Amino acid sequence: MKPAPFDYTRPADLPGALKALGGDGARALAGGQSLGPMLNLRLARPGLLVDLRRVDELRRIEQRGDALVLGAMTTHASIEDGQVPDTTRGMLRRVAADIAYRAVRTRGTMGGSLAHADPAADWVTALTALDATLTIARGGGTSTALMAGFMTGAFATALGDGAMLTAISIPSLSDRARWGYYKICRKPGEFADAIGAVVLDPARDYRRVVMGAVGGAPVVLESLAAKLPFDSTPTLTRAEIEAAAPAMDSVDRQLHVVAVERALAQAYAR
Ligand SMILES: Cc1cc2nc3c(=O)[nH]c(=O)nc-3n(C[C@H](O)[C@H](O)[C@H](O)COP(=O)(O)OP(=O)(O)OC[C@H]3O[C@@H](n4cnc5c(N)ncnc54)[C@H](O)[C@@H]3O)c2cc1C
Repeated sequence: MKPAPFDYTRPADLPGALKALGGDGARALAGGQSLGPMLNLRLARPGLLVDLRRVDELRRIEQRGDALVLGAMTTHASIEDGQVPDTTRGMLRRVAADIAYRAVRTRGTMGGSLAHADPAADWVTALTALDATLTIARGGGTSTALMAGFMTGAFATALGDGAMLTAISIPSLSDRARWGYYKICRKPGEFADAIGAVVLDPARDYRRVVMGAVGGAPVVLESLAAKLPFDSTPTLTRAEIEAAAPAMDSVDRQLHVVAVERALAQAYAR
């Protein structure tokens, strides 16, 4: 199928992009890796496509205090290739490298992935585990939102009409931090059937365990994380992980529990 007709604009800066996005039926175009197929299948019928590729502000990468701030147009490939400073002890790079295949990673962006909010996507879970904060701009100004809570359901976010995700701020991990990320999928590079993500950082007294690819927003397993020691191996049983998981059928539960178990094993092996 071919897309329904639409207008197209390629603004050169952020104010121009925000102005264009404020119009009726306007939609941002980042890497086009999800939006392209949706247009072709006519699942999306925007009146105006606002191409963000010329907006340099959205590609900025900075270290601000204890956080790494990535512009929304940062591609998966630039993280995989080490063009982004390694402030998460390799976690960002590892997650990026397992997204789809190289052609998708070259064009696909972190901001596009978060805004699209596919439950099976990698960044929605990994950045929840890392406690990222998102910067959102709209005509009237900017606001911030925690990644945990930004995704409100499958393909649904707190963004709202006319808003743009501009940057993602990711707390840096200390030298003593541990992380694990385990993705179960049928073939390498595919969307996940289940994801387990674990981040522990004693420097911030931070513990988080996340179950991803659950059909909606990733689930933060708070009671499980509270049981995790920083300096010794935990003695969690499978029953304890199962008890923390949300309701799902037995096959899904098995996959998700195994993903979390393996992420925990990775974290404590580091
Ligand atoms: C074959 C294939 C396999 C894939 N496998 C995986 C995988 O294993 N794991 C994974 O995580 N992903 C996977 N993806 C998705 C890929 O990561 C895409 O990069 C991502 O879903 C969308 O990013 P994009 O930059 O291409 O966004 P686009 O497709 O351009 O946009 C996606 C949506 O986000 C909106 N949007 C984009 N940028 C912004 C912004 N800054 N502010 C507000 N709204 C915005 C658009 O309007 C659109 O609604 C796969 C994609 C393909 C085609």
